[in-house]
Amino acid sequence: MLGAGRLRGLGTRAAPLWPGRAGSRGLGARIRARGVSTSWSPVGAAFNVKPQGRRLDLFGERRGLFGVPELSAPEGFRVAQENALRKADLLVQRVCSVAPGPQTVLIFDELSDSLCRVADLADFVKIAHPEPAFREAAEEACTSIGTAVEKLNTNVELYRSLQKLLADKKLVDSLDPETRRVAELFMFDFEISGIHLDKEKRKRAVDLNVKILDLSNTFLMGTNFPNKIEKHLLPEHIHQNFVVAGNHVIVDGLHAESPDDLVREAAYKIFLHPNAGQLRCLEELLSNRDLLAKLVGYSTYSHRALQGTLAQSPETVMQFLEKLSDKLSERTIRDFEMIRGMKMKLNPQNSELMPWDPPYYSGVIRAERYNIEPSLYCPFFSLGACMEGLNTLFGRLLGITLYAEQPAKGEVWCEGVRKLAVVHESEGLLGYIYCDFFQRAGKPHQDCHFTIRGGRLKEDGDYQLPVVVLMLNLPHPSRNLPTLLTPGMMENLFHEMGHAMHSMLGRTRYQHVTGTRCPTDFAEVPSILMEYFANDHRVVSQFARHYQTGQSLPKNMVSRLCESKKVGAAADMQLQVFYAALDQIYHGKHPLTASTTDILRETQEKFYGLPYVPNTVCFRNVLLLTTL
Ligand SMILES: [Zn+2]
Repeated sequence: MLGAGRLRGLGTRAAPLWPGRAGSRGLGARIRARGVSTSWSPVGAAFNVKPQGRRLDLFGERRGLFGVPELSAPEGFRVAQENALRKADLLVQRVCSVAPGPQTVLIFDELSDSLCRVADLADFVKIAHPEPAFREAAEEACTSIGTAVEKLNTNVELYRSLQKLLADKKLVDSLDPETRRVAELFMFDFEISGIHLDKEKRKRAVDLNVKILDLSNTFLMGTNFPNKIEKHLLPEHIHQNFVVAGNHVIVDGLHAESPDDLVREAAYKIFLHPNAGQLRCLEELLSNRDLLAKLVGYSTYSHRALQGTLAQSPETVMQFLEKLSDKLSERTIRDFEMIRGMKMKLNPQNSELMPWDPPYYSGVIRAERYNIEPSLYCPFFSLGACMEGLNTLFGRLLGITLYAEQPAKGEVWCEGVRKLAVVHESEGLLGYIYCDFFQRAGKPHQDCHFTIRGGRLKEDGDYQLPVVVLMLNLPHPSRNLPTLLTPGMMENLFHEMGHAMHSMLGRTRYQHVTGTRCPTDFAEVPSILMEYFANDHRVVSQFARHYQTGQSLPKNMVSRLCESKKVGAAADMQLQVFYAALDQIYHGKHPLTASTTDILRETQEKFYGLPYVPNTVCFRNVLLLTTL
């Protein structure tokens, strides 16, 4: 999923990549151990063995975050940002004075690179650094670079330098496809800011952009607020499942895993109860997006959002969703029947299948059929074993080896962060992955990939190596116990490593299109492919071994785990189809034919199959709108 609030235009279009679903249920089943007896390869040991104290380094030089010399103290962000802005000024002057040609694109990319290198790094530090002074300094750098980018996106002289190139057909034909595509992408970024419009309309586009940013922030924040209900309206025996405050019961989530049908039903109806302010905010957001799209030349917001993606147009997306839904429907019906059967068995008086049932009852079926209790699996999925597995897989598939490197003093923001050098057998060093894997107070809960520096071919012929961070939320190892992953956490680790390898392997000439800075609908392809490896017994049986005895995960346990993933999979996907279709309709032709809630009901009936529950809105709890 794409995070909000990123730089547009000369900033990259890449964003933190969150996994599609939260696969880390049953966090950290801890198992007591007598001692670690298994031997690990260097990369396995780097993650399985707790460092026995740091090397005493009293007089070593402090390097600064990610090896950037200025960033050894929070004040350094100001220096880095000033340097970047100064360099940007020079590059703007240069690009406006050179004759249009491939050089124009190179300078544009360098301009974007010098701003992104500070902004992307700061974007990560402002949410992940444990020290408030660093976070605040990073936040300031983000704001000041963001403002500079906004100015550049409306800089007419800069725009003309690119326009001159793209308007000259002969010149355009002489560009290689990569250069041409990057030039068009920069132009597209200018155009969605409305730079090609007259002064009055341009101002209107800027105002709409500001308003949309504001409304989408308000809407996203609103999706997390708990709802409350007067105590006497809920049966007393389920109060204990929620927070009770005075005369009210507060519901802050769906309680989807609760075995009590009534608790899940109450949570669903209360948490998803529409809030008038939130509905107004959504309707205003959608109509402003529509106005902006039309102002800059698109028939709908969806057309604007899909330009430059693999899907290309809303028509293709809708065709795909309808076809998928058709193909899925029989399997979905079978899934719902199976889930209904389990509900009937456990609760014969009330066996109608409702939207709050599938996650819980498919979990029950999985447990009953396959006995996949996470605590049985965790000892085989120590972090070190999983990293060894990834290393072996990358070795065989790509000729790549991961090496754990000791970071320099001040290079990382927190003690548990590991640094991996990614080395290809013939190409050599490809880049660095910083692994920020362990939980800590104040750290965001999502698993995520961040691009800190994009790869690109520099003017002097050297390749600027990509640098990324993978952020997970795993339990800490202790002296005797390595970090043990549930199967869901293992799958997430594989997913995030898919993003990291995409960043390492996408050795493009321009950083504007490197790795995950590709079309947004392609960005999840490598990571989802990696999930398939995490679910294939031929791969899992290679690395899953007991952290104490070294015993391999028994074959029948591997196949049980892989088979269990198929339970309810069609129903899960059908739900995603429904969300995607809803997103398309909301961002399609305006004015909408009905209220957002009526459209939700119709779309749910057409694309999901479980009844709509009056007075609920499912976008209350999920960040479903991909364009948000
Ligand atoms: Zn992802």
